[in-house]
Amino acid sequence: VGVFFRPVDKINAVIETYPKGIAGFQRYLEFLATRPDVADRPGARAVERLRGDIAYREMRFGYSAERPIFDGLDLDIAAGETVAFVGPSGAGKTTICSLLPRFYEVAGGAILIDGIDIRDMTLQSLRSNIGIVQQDVFLFAGSIRDNIAYGRLDATEEEIVEAARRARLDGVIAALPDGLDTVIGERGVKLSGGQKQRLAIARIFLKNPPILILDEATSALDTETEKAIQQSLAELSQGRTTLVIAHRLATIANADRIVVVENGDVVEQGSHAQLLARKEGRYRSLHAAQAGHGGAVPGNAVA
Ligand code: ATP
Repeated sequence: VGVFFRPVDKINAVIETYPKGIAGFQRYLEFLATRPDVADRPGARAVERLRGDIAYREMRFGYSAERPIFDGLDLDIAAGETVAFVGPSGAGKTTICSLLPRFYEVAGGAILIDGIDIRDMTLQSLRSNIGIVQQDVFLFAGSIRDNIAYGRLDATEEEIVEAARRARLDGVIAALPDGLDTVIGERGVKLSGGQKQRLAIARIFLKNPPILILDEATSALDTETEKAIQQSLAELSQGRTTLVIAHRLATIANADRIVVVENGDVVEQGSHAQLLARKEGRYRSLHAAQAGHGGAVPGNAVA
């Protein structure tokens, strides 16, 4: 639908400070150019809007056969629930979420949504039910309108305006010379990190999927902007099943459930209060250890 723009100096900045961002970029490319091993099964059906009940059933997966990451994961997430995944770096938090839109194929067991094996759905219909917000936002060289409409290509002008309003991007747009027609990119206006995040959020409001994956930002935004974005994300997650890949414990206290992942296993789960009350709890010790890390989960902190 267009060409990514990504100035070279930006790439270097990303490599230096956001190793996570590159992983996100990789996943996005994989999303666009679907991996050869992930394809529609014969007889796969196009599902309509799903409710968003998610179940991992004895799920097995590894990026290579020699190194399994999940060896029988069982996890249920109820429609509308917000679950935050925490745990040390490399525990498998991102992988759990990447398997849901089938960026990779499970090696055993299954992942079900509303009781249907995701492999029995067409990729297109599955992914139309899932919205992903990553800290790296992918913009096309084009107008703000087109960039928002990427969330749903057949959206009307009204719907685009409404999505921008809900993402609180309307003020930004009003201040730009050509409003929604303002061209962003190499030859246009450069958006700030916070504005890009808002644009990403507007896309998802427009797409309106029942399932949301939030790959939480690790840094880059100032505290005020960060707070405002968190507020918008909280609104975005309302009424949607939300999986949060959490890098900062401070922002997940309001999740309905916190799932602590270690070595591809769920080692603990419960509400923030429940987990903090556990004397020898993993979450409790992560929480205690974070104090000196500016709120970053120890081991998850970026360079
Ligand atoms: P972090 O907090 O650092 O993002 P995480 O809990 O999200 O960690 P994952 O990214 O899911 O962990 O990684 C789980 C394991 O899989 C790690 O050992 C990681 O090195 C490995 N891994 C992740 N992505 C890939 C990939 N694309 N190819 C091969 N191995 C991978």
